[in-house]
Amino acid sequence: MKEEKNNNKRNYFIFAVICLVVLLFYNAVLIPALKRSQITDTSYSFFLTQIDGGAVTKAEITEDSILFEVGSGGEKKLYSTAKIDDPDLVSRLHDSGTAEFSGIVSRQSPLQNFLFSWVLPIVFMVLLWSILIKGMNRRMGGNAMSFGKSSAKIYVKAQTGKTFADVAGQDEAKEALEEIVDFLHAPEKYAEIGASLPKGALLAGPPGTGKTLLAQAVAGEADVPFFSISGSEFVEMFVGMGAAKIRDLFRQANEKAPCIVFIDEIDTIGKKRDGQIGGNDEREQTLNQLLTEMDGFDGKKGVVILAATNRPESLDPALLRPGRFDRRIPAELPDLAGREAILKVHAKKVKTDGSIDFNAIARATAGASGAELANIVNESALRAVRSGRETVSRSDMEESVEVVIAGYQRKSAVISQNERKIIAYHEIGHALVAAMQKDSAPVHKITIIPRTSGALGYTMQVDDGEKFLMTKEEALARLAVLTGGRSAEEIVFGSCTTGASNDIEKATQLARAMVTRYGMSSLGMVALETENNRYLGGDTSLMCSSETAARIDSEVSRLVNEAHEKAAAILSENIGKLHELAEFLLERETITGEEFMAILKKQPAGV
Ligand code: ADP
Ligand code: MG
Ligand code: ZN
Repeated sequence: MKEEKNNNKRNYFIFAVICLVVLLFYNAVLIPALKRSQITDTSYSFFLTQIDGGAVTKAEITEDSILFEVGSGGEKKLYSTAKIDDPDLVSRLHDSGTAEFSGIVSRQSPLQNFLFSWVLPIVFMVLLWSILIKGMNRRMGGNAMSFGKSSAKIYVKAQTGKTFADVAGQDEAKEALEEIVDFLHAPEKYAEIGASLPKGALLAGPPGTGKTLLAQAVAGEADVPFFSISGSEFVEMFVGMGAAKIRDLFRQANEKAPCIVFIDEIDTIGKKRDGQIGGNDEREQTLNQLLTEMDGFDGKKGVVILAATNRPESLDPALLRPGRFDRRIPAELPDLAGREAILKVHAKKVKTDGSIDFNAIARATAGASGAELANIVNESALRAVRSGRETVSRSDMEESVEVVIAGYQRKSAVISQNERKIIAYHEIGHALVAAMQKDSAPVHKITIIPRTSGALGYTMQVDDGEKFLMTKEEALARLAVLTGGRSAEEIVFGSCTTGASNDIEKATQLARAMVTRYGMSSLGMVALETENNRYLGGDTSLMCSSETAARIDSEVSRLVNEAHEKAAAILSENIGKLHELAEFLLERETITGEEFMAILKKQPAGV
């Protein structure tokens, strides 16, 4: 509240200063200029000759000047001249007869004068100001006059309602954060030994791995005030406002110590300052202020700063040096056990019928983030409601995995019988190549029901356990599986379709990574590419000579082509099974891995 008052005071002060400047300008420059524009300055002797000539029709004598009008009828001109102490003037004017004269001190009453030149403009400006501010508020949806007001919200336990129990997996991150919580509870314990805790900890990881959730859990556990602000909130319309907000935030935090300050998406303000001309002044000022504030406060007092980002490599090195965000807490994508735990945490919130195999779901969702897993559980609950059931069943869960991976089923899509046949052979091509190689993951499900993501069908392979490494053999087997779809089309129909574009893209990506990053080709163990945004898609940039680039390209196409030949050979050898399985898939639309294996293992009829 005090904060608000101070700000209001400051705003009124700014407003008053602006008013004063405008008024001074208005009275000292504008009004005299306007007056002067119609009035010609002349000499006193000109005035006298005009009187004598009988040309002066009016004269106004003020304290220091004389204003007079010359001419008659339509043509009248105003002149002014300095007043000279001339005792004859009155009689002279009187004698000329034509002049009407008076001795006015001021042409308006003092009150009128004051009203016009001071009060009216102020009223006008206040009106204008309030209209302007109202308009701005409406457009920006906030308070435009809240210059420098920090919008850091204070979170306390009751408000986030999250604890470490809500965060599944992420054990390393939780451990590191538990230490911070412990420090906030009993700082003496640390002070006795002389240990000081890091001032800041940076949560880094891909989107949806629970960084924001972890920070909220810390707030819930720590039982201390929790200031939460997002990096983008510092980026303001006016240069300097972000810096003011930082100052404000840290002042508040220091008053409330021990407490936690959480800056989400810190990369918005913490990007490397690159000194480019025309760089973002506002952002750099904000960052500089943050650096200064982090140095300024006393770590022993118990202010801990948490920040979260999914682009740690883009942060300014000054931000990461010891004494600032020196501790990095990784929030990586969950492993198999982590995924299972996350699914269970979220499944607690929905009613299940007890038939769900969480381990199977976790195995089918390799690479999914916590947010995606939470979404899968929610989708399955929605599906149960849609089909009028009261509990979530196993099939709800399995279907929602596919919804999250490939989108909803496109029931309305009409696909001709001919095209369905091509799609069926394509998918069985993938599955058959996978099943016939020992380094491939088992086939889990094959379907030719189109999905909203654009997939016309897909083959799901699920590993038995968690895989952290991929051997060269596995990579080559995967390439063969990816080319299997196209190979089946070629063998059976003697032609190819556009349906393989996604497979081609994936195969090329994998082959390229094998050459440039995994050192699995004749080019040897040389890093030819660097990954840029590890947590966000991971686009790469080439760093080699153009000759090497050409060799990479030919090596990549060699790998893919060899895989293609291998897949074609496997399919030709098993052409009977290919037809049999494709037929079966066409009839059923979706078949499970077990059904697939049963047909594959069955002895061909008549042998
Ligand atoms: P980000 O890392 O992008 O900040 P969030 O913390 O916002 O991700 O996570 C989004 C949602 O995903 C959370 O609200 C939560 O429901 C779910 N989630 C992510 N990770 C976990 C986890 N380890 N345990 C439980 N839920 C999680
Ligand atoms: Mg977040
Ligand atoms: Zn395919």
